Amino acid sequence: MSHVLAAVAWPYANGPRHIGHVSGFGVPSDVFSRYMRMAGHDVLMVSGTDEHGTPIQVQADAEGITPREAVDKYNRMIVEDLHGLGLAYDLFTRTTTRNHYAVVQELFTALFDNGYVIAKTTQAAISPSTGRGLPDRYIEGTCPICGYTSARGDQCDNCGNQLDPIDLINPKSKINGETPEFVDSEHYFLDLSAFAEALGAWLDTREGWRPNVLRFSKNLVADLRPRAITRDLDWGVPIPKEGWDTKRFYVWFDAVIGYLSASIEWARRSGDPEAWRRWWQSEDGRSYYFMGKDNIVFHSLIWPAILLGYDGKGDKGGKPGELGELGLPTEVVSSEYLTMEGRKFSSSRRVVIYVRDFLARYDADALRYYIAVAGPETTDTDFTWAEFLRRNNDELVAGWGNLVNRTISMAAKNFGAVPMAGDLTAEDTALLETVRGGFTTVGNLLENHKQKAAINEAMRIVGEANKYLSDQSPWKIKAEEDRPRLATILHTALQAITDCNTLLTPFLPHAAQKIHTLLGGEGVHAPMPEIVEVSDLDGGPGYPVLTGDYTVGAKWEPRELRAGTPLSAPTPVFKKLDPSIVDEELARLEG
Ligand SMILES: [Zn+2]
Repeated sequence: MSHVLAAVAWPYANGPRHIGHVSGFGVPSDVFSRYMRMAGHDVLMVSGTDEHGTPIQVQADAEGITPREAVDKYNRMIVEDLHGLGLAYDLFTRTTTRNHYAVVQELFTALFDNGYVIAKTTQAAISPSTGRGLPDRYIEGTCPICGYTSARGDQCDNCGNQLDPIDLINPKSKINGETPEFVDSEHYFLDLSAFAEALGAWLDTREGWRPNVLRFSKNLVADLRPRAITRDLDWGVPIPKEGWDTKRFYVWFDAVIGYLSASIEWARRSGDPEAWRRWWQSEDGRSYYFMGKDNIVFHSLIWPAILLGYDGKGDKGGKPGELGELGLPTEVVSSEYLTMEGRKFSSSRRVVIYVRDFLARYDADALRYYIAVAGPETTDTDFTWAEFLRRNNDELVAGWGNLVNRTISMAAKNFGAVPMAGDLTAEDTALLETVRGGFTTVGNLLENHKQKAAINEAMRIVGEANKYLSDQSPWKIKAEEDRPRLATILHTALQAITDCNTLLTPFLPHAAQKIHTLLGGEGVHAPMPEIVEVSDLDGGPGYPVLTGDYTVGAKWEPRELRAGTPLSAPTPVFKKLDPSIVDEELARLEG
């Protein structure tokens, strides 16, 4: 047993999230956390909405509302969507809480006191027509390093290097196309170069990471240079220094600190304000960060640099801040991109399906299954409606759902209960051993973030159970003297289904709960998150959080089915989809 922190990327609250977003961070982190809890670990899964920065301001302007009104609206929408997907966060909060502000300011203060923050006067971009500050990511131009013509002011998506907008060749505003003007402005910078050695040494000790994540991170260490952590902006976390009240922390700086502030908020709400330390400061603490590949650098280099600076472990030394020494990530689990019908997701071009629209028409587990079996775990993958239909109908409905329904219905019809098994044949024993073996094979794959292989293995075992049932053909057994054999076959099949259901629970929690009930089980099998309206702990406005009691539910182990448990005729677990949905959805996509 260990303390496992599942630190999940923070969805940005400038609009509803689409299925590409949740396939990268949301569903994989939930599958992992559910498995780890079932396997007996003490999991803390935290995240929240990322609510500061210029894109929020741009969105609010477009809607004629304040940034605060915009984030209130999208925070609530995102909370509802993640709830609908059954993502079992211990706490899903937001970055506009007073607790978050205080933690961000504490980390900044320690970094400052340890000498890792430097003030520099730089050339800040402004829009000549409005006089407003123009953030880096709203400036586009040619990358001075690789020549990519659509590099952003903060980062080149082609070569992965961090950039300064002033270095871009032929910079243009993405908001209105004008050439930005650069004026002098004083800003704080995090001196990332002071961590190059410590980060390099730390990355050398990392084991089991996806090779591309480790390679990418190591390649960037040598190029680390000071990075601005403040902006000329009024929507953000205030800087605790005199004379800095017209500026705010840059949104990336406050957002990564959210993993820590959310852990602290969870502890404060749990009644033991020090409880977060078990995940951040204990020997058996492990932390896994889940995100899409565009965010690797923030989790594998910049956040570890902030933590090293807070601990006083960069080139300039120092001592840990008031919270005490904080642990670095155990592993950065990055996924690749999901595309839609061969194209990049794009809200503006309507190549998109939002989570809430998806959930209005289909079950959460149908999407969770698709993401697990065909999502962008280690390579970019494409979501197509035809493939979604096929996976749902051929695999979920015909493969798994049918096995459950026909077995329970045969047992209910013939015995009205789980029948008693007689002597087992070699075939019966072989099936039960295969299923029991799944707890080791599927479990190991899940623990090592190989979810695609894990669900394929679980579904292969389901296939064995289907094969067993066709081989034994219990529906052909009619004679009264063969009734004991019929009972044994159905008992064996129901036992296999019970344990397959446990193997599939991290992936398909809603269906797993249903199947548990169909098998005569009582109580919670797969715990679900709930939306709770809370007040801010420090006097700010209230907000909805996602939280839940996940100490209940099935364990990751075989569970012996009790003969005599009453069974009744089952309702279908999964919905078979009509092939016409493909054309309907494609028509929506074209707009
Ligand atoms: Zn480049």
